[in-house]
Amino acid sequence: MAESKPNILDTSVKYIKSIGPKRASAFEKAGIQTIRDLLFYFPTRHLDRTTVLTVAQAYQYALNGFDGEITVIGKVVNKEIIKTRKREILKVFFKDKTGFFECVWFSGVKYFYQVFNENDFFAISNKPEIDKYDHFKFIHPDYDKITEEESQSFLNTGKIIPFYRIPKELKLTNLGDFGIRKIIHNAAEKYADKIEETLPEYILQKHSLLSLPKTILNFHFPENKEKLIEAKRRMKFEEIFFLELLVALKKNKIQKRRKTHKYTIHSDLIKKFLSILPFQLTQSQLKVLSEIKKDMLSDFPMNRLLQGDVGSGKTIVALISMLIAIDNGYQTALMVPTEILADQHYKNISSLLEKLNAINPQRKIKASLLLGGQNKTTRNKILQSIEEKETDIIIGTHALLEENVNFKNLSFVVIDEQHRFGVRQRADLISKGIDTDVLVMSATPIPRTLTMTLYGDLDVSIIDEMPKNRKKIITVLRGEKKLPEIYKFIKDKAKENYQTFIVYPLVEESDKLDLKAATKYYDELRTTFLQGLNVGLIHGRMSWQEKEEMMLKFLKKDFDVLIATTVIEVGIDIPDANIILINDAHRFGLSQLHQLRGRVGRSDKQAYCILVTFDSLSAKQNLNKLNLEYLSQSQLENYTAYVRLQSMVDYNDGFKIAEIDMKLRGPGDIFGIKQSGFPDLKYINLIEDEKLIYEAKQSAFEIIRNDSNLNSEKNFLLKKKIINDFKDNFIFSKIG
Ligand code: ADP
Ligand code: MG
Repeated sequence: MAESKPNILDTSVKYIKSIGPKRASAFEKAGIQTIRDLLFYFPTRHLDRTTVLTVAQAYQYALNGFDGEITVIGKVVNKEIIKTRKREILKVFFKDKTGFFECVWFSGVKYFYQVFNENDFFAISNKPEIDKYDHFKFIHPDYDKITEEESQSFLNTGKIIPFYRIPKELKLTNLGDFGIRKIIHNAAEKYADKIEETLPEYILQKHSLLSLPKTILNFHFPENKEKLIEAKRRMKFEEIFFLELLVALKKNKIQKRRKTHKYTIHSDLIKKFLSILPFQLTQSQLKVLSEIKKDMLSDFPMNRLLQGDVGSGKTIVALISMLIAIDNGYQTALMVPTEILADQHYKNISSLLEKLNAINPQRKIKASLLLGGQNKTTRNKILQSIEEKETDIIIGTHALLEENVNFKNLSFVVIDEQHRFGVRQRADLISKGIDTDVLVMSATPIPRTLTMTLYGDLDVSIIDEMPKNRKKIITVLRGEKKLPEIYKFIKDKAKENYQTFIVYPLVEESDKLDLKAATKYYDELRTTFLQGLNVGLIHGRMSWQEKEEMMLKFLKKDFDVLIATTVIEVGIDIPDANIILINDAHRFGLSQLHQLRGRVGRSDKQAYCILVTFDSLSAKQNLNKLNLEYLSQSQLENYTAYVRLQSMVDYNDGFKIAEIDMKLRGPGDIFGIKQSGFPDLKYINLIEDEKLIYEAKQSAFEIIRNDSNLNSEKNFLLKKKIINDFKDNFIFSKIG
């Protein structure tokens, strides 16, 4: 449908009352070019004037032990920093016509001191308190700076007012809270009802959603609290619903394909394989295996994500699945992100195959390793054996993706640590076979909601049980001044046959500096605190072969302690390495810490993870009441670092850890999602909105089930938006 005359909404913001040419160009620079952009420039928060009280009223609330949040308006009359022996405290004194109150900060004192200046007006919100000296106060309140004019009109108007983030370009034109509010109010009044609906009426009804014009009005200037919630809900729903539609479209496309290869379970190969394992599979592993088997036997290509915490035993599951394919005469491939990991998988798998071949000599199964750094002769030999199908399992890094790697009949692909690969790379490997069955594995547990959205086209299997012999790893947080005691602990434990990893964060992205720092730690510790122990060193300057050699020496117990200034996130299982000391732990991300911790605790011995950070951060923090939004950058960093470290102490469960990580960082930053092209989510919170996401998903999938190309008239709006807005989306690009 071509639209001939330009839509008024797509014209410049300069046509809005009280936006002159100068401001219009500032708006444009800030990315708000059209009236439509402005209508969708939603406030970051609202202040509920309906709960605004006078100081005298608020005092009564406090006397009555009121436990909720209230807002009072006050003018700053004074402020002071009180220094006690232990800390600094900031007190800011306010008044209104009916009385006085004070606000108190125990941290961020310097920052807040410069926020509150004499004669400025603020709206202060929190639970009101009265101390034993009858001082009426708020501790670490939320606050909003307002104009004097607003302070007059604030009371008893029963409205909820919006607060907008004011881009710096607009601040330069002296646009304040009041001004932007007025501008957007003008725009919303005049143009909100011109906004075209993007969701069909039947969907609005089914999910009780506000229409888009009403949503815009109420998101900016809510009629009441409930309407604000409804407006936000509509935006959230729409955001996730269209993503789910794309996922459903993609999944539908995949399901239309039928695979050409067929497996049957015709020999007792798997039974034999299980008999050579030194352990029994866990219930969880068995359950996942049966899910995979079902996929393999079906007519459609498998597309499954296997999630399981570090050490939960995903490799064995993958190997058994590969054996089913091999038993049917097909080739399989296992792609991993690093050479050392590829090499480790190769060694483990080869040694298992050796045992299997010994009891199954009529059909010997062969694995090969393909890496980037191999010499030409070796490489050519391997390439040939792949082409001629002399090898059944090909293990490698992204070297597998190169053009001259030709499989004879690849039917099954496993991708380990799949979040480390981009969408493209996965697709490239898959295309080396025909209708390949795909199993992707992730040790970084991804929260359920995210799996549901980002990987919505995949079926998901979860190993949620650790092998039985594992004990919970004891994790502690210590300040640096405890290091001598910790070294003593390491020394004592060495007598009990414990080995220890000591990890330092990478100094810089420079190998040279890394080497220097590594050598320094190594020399220092060896000759002082750890004297008498055998100490080894792994650092970023080593090649993967050298690193592997060190790991093997560690395994053979040539060392009691291995110092690592490089990521040892993947390494050879070292059963006696049961202590990991992580220095400057605040500098690691949460999932990285969890991965590191996964290096220990691989046997039935009690394992320890000791997180060391600077002394003040290791002490229990009183942060519950802090208003994060107003912390300075470094305060905020310390705060989140503390939450990360404390979460490690409190939880061993990788899923819980991942969920916290996601809360702290937002989903965009983690799991390499940015890299895989996942869109920024503006409205949806993947943790809190789980129910709504589920609802949107159900609905989207049902629509595609009944109308797989969105050709019916009632879905016209959906098709239109998908074509207009999502052509370049990564999910969409794979549909076409
Ligand atoms: P991950 O899921 O992190 O890839 P691995 O597959 O490397 O974990 O398994 C970790 C270790 O646990 C390996 O040494 C593996 O042999 C062992 N393992 C796997 N399954 C079991 C089991 N059911 N019982 C005991 N040990 C197991
Ligand atoms: Mg693994």
